[in-house]
Amino acid sequence: IYTNFIRLDMDPNRIIGVMAVMQDVTEMRKLENMRSEFVANVSHELKTPLTSISGFIETLKNGAMDNEKVRDRFLDIIDIETERLTRLIDDILTLSAIENDKNTIKREEIRINEMINEVNMMAEALAKGKQITYITELEADLPFIYGNRDWFKQMLLNLIENAIKYTPENGQIKVLIYKRYEHVFAVVKDTGIGIPKEDISRLFERFYRVDKARSRKVGGTGLGLAIVKHIVLSFGGEIKVNSKLGKGSEFIVRIPILGRGKLG
Ligand code: ADP
Repeated sequence: IYTNFIRLDMDPNRIIGVMAVMQDVTEMRKLENMRSEFVANVSHELKTPLTSISGFIETLKNGAMDNEKVRDRFLDIIDIETERLTRLIDDILTLSAIENDKNTIKREEIRINEMINEVNMMAEALAKGKQITYITELEADLPFIYGNRDWFKQMLLNLIENAIKYTPENGQIKVLIYKRYEHVFAVVKDTGIGIPKEDISRLFERFYRVDKARSRKVGGTGLGLAIVKHIVLSFGGEIKVNSKLGKGSEFIVRIPILGRGKLG
């Protein structure tokens, strides 16, 4: 936005007011800015684990190698950071593939009742070890929705994975899928830490995290919800979030039954 300030002073000694004229920059310019901001963010996100990896390698080379305990600890850190880099690159590639292909991707009729078993198997594996109860409630005979099957699965799994990441042990996660009017609703509900009100509108931005340290600790890349948003858009759908701090969150996805997606 360009801002021009114009002095409104008839009497040169007395400023009556200031008028600000704001002009919108063109869409193109905005896109360009978004793109270069994304590149800057990606570079920063990639550099953090790399700096850590090269730092620990350097320390090992400078003698830490001789102490077995220290060596093993450093190697573990290098391992964790390498995994993190891989996850980050995978997510960046997924996001860019979804953005590029959302107009050309193969669309098919998706039978949710049939696919949910695959989702459940993966979700149960993730929830295991954290003593989280995982429940699904699906209406029988849900209608087809139309779009990319793998993406739909990925969308549900990203939401479920977040629910697990941000819910303490012994919590509960519920996945509800039902039809209302001409839409299929998919709801992922948790009894987790919740999200502050002021952060909700920014959750779907790339690399936005409410608590960066916590996201890092649970292995987040900050791209999961950006991927979810683009998948929902490819289905011509919408996503909404309700949350109460300390009580839990629910992500509600609404997808038109016959819609072929807004393609863009
Ligand atoms: P991340 O990889 O950090 O989890 P996401 O894009 O998936 O990135 O989510 C963005 C942020 O939204 C997270 O860092 C977290 O702060 C918040 N968030 C997402 N899902 C939940 C949830 N179910 N409960 C609480 N906070 C959540």
